[in-house]
Amino acid sequence: VNDGSIDPFSLVQANLEDARSAGATVLNHCSVTGMTVEGGRVSRVEVRDRRGVLSSAIVPEVVVNAAGSWVSVVAEMAGCHIPMGLDQGSMLVMDGRQCSQVINRMRPPSNGDIAVPNHTSTILGTTSRPAGSPEDTTVAIEDIELLVRETSAMLPSLRNCRAIRTYGGVRPLLGGGGREASRSFAILTDEGAENLLSVAGGKLTTYRLMAEKVADRVCGMLGTGPRCRTHLEPLGPSADGKGSSIPQARLRRKYGRMASSIDTSDARVICSCEQVLRSEVKAVLKAGDALTLADVMRRTRAGMGYCQGFDCSLSVLEVMLEERSVDPLPLLMEFLEERERGFSQAGGDQLRQGLLRQQVLKGVYGLEGKE
Ligand SMILES: Cc1cc2nc3c(=O)[nH]c(=O)nc-3n(C[C@H](O)[C@H](O)[C@H](O)COP(=O)(O)OP(=O)(O)OC[C@H]3O[C@@H](n4cnc5c(N)ncnc54)[C@H](O)[C@@H]3O)c2cc1C
Repeated sequence: VNDGSIDPFSLVQANLEDARSAGATVLNHCSVTGMTVEGGRVSRVEVRDRRGVLSSAIVPEVVVNAAGSWVSVVAEMAGCHIPMGLDQGSMLVMDGRQCSQVINRMRPPSNGDIAVPNHTSTILGTTSRPAGSPEDTTVAIEDIELLVRETSAMLPSLRNCRAIRTYGGVRPLLGGGGREASRSFAILTDEGAENLLSVAGGKLTTYRLMAEKVADRVCGMLGTGPRCRTHLEPLGPSADGKGSSIPQARLRRKYGRMASSIDTSDARVICSCEQVLRSEVKAVLKAGDALTLADVMRRTRAGMGYCQGFDCSLSVLEVMLEERSVDPLPLLMEFLEERERGFSQAGGDQLRQGLLRQQVLKGVYGLEGKE
């Protein structure tokens, strides 16, 4: 079946960059923790910085609740009830590009029917079961076995491949859950909080259209602005792969315009799995809102590859310490624990090897006993 894929990490960064260039303020690691409703309108939104203890408040004209699987939780803060179907799905990341294009099984949507080549890996998906909450992302061993069994019927090489990582997510579905549930979306309002718009349902493929409909509604409510034009303009800087040298062309493909801020004369590689340069990490840290090792990983891919950061996280941390004052141990432990969750569901030799590697790292760097 004809299909395509995108890099969700780059897509998010491109959206943020575009929003910033249009005047938006982006607050990384901040949560909405409460809303005050007065006279049928949200008059105050409480925000907490999850990495610090700082709290602040925003006095809004309009509030857009685009919290995905958490849309009901956020709406509830303003006393609005949105019934959503939550559906858990598991994915498996395999080492190496086992196919050169998306392979999708030609049958009605089902479990384990897609293999997507992604950078240095191949992602296998998906499964579907009712989820108890947006946090219910646990991947069962049966999910992993099913994904390998079903996708290897299309790509036999997957049977002998190394699994790098598993992960789960929760689909936000309007109404009920499951494969048959509608993937349509709706913008929901409530008389009790008339300046709150909740955008619920949809898919990633419909996200731009969802944003267009919401942006037009917001402009209508504010009585300003021309209609949305994002369907006419390419998102963010063009990632055209042009450059005066092979490294520059590669960086331009990866980062678009931001590539010009990366010093290509420093060719030291910091992450050998994903061939990330030390200078890429430096440039990302200079941009300001990458506060954790996972933030750096999502922007550069350092730590996302075969070794899952066990070989490069200390080097990335060293660059972080050069760039700013941080407490290194909590950052490292937080990162390694999160990576560990992704491979801990593997079994057999692979799990044994992963645990050995982890203990070696902890022993060499004196992290034993740290929980
Ligand atoms: C296994 C699986 C496979 C999928 N496959 C596909 C596919 O093939 N094609 C496709 O088009 N779609 C697919 N989807 C659906 C797609 O991933 C979602 O529709 C999409 O990610 C929703 O994006 P979003 O930005 O609306 O929500 P999210 O990506 O969930 O983002 C919501 C954000 O809100 C934040 N948030 C929550 N609460 C708060 C709060 N109180 N304060 C501040 N922030 C908050 C969350 O941290 C999160 O970052 C899949 C989903 C899953 C789980």
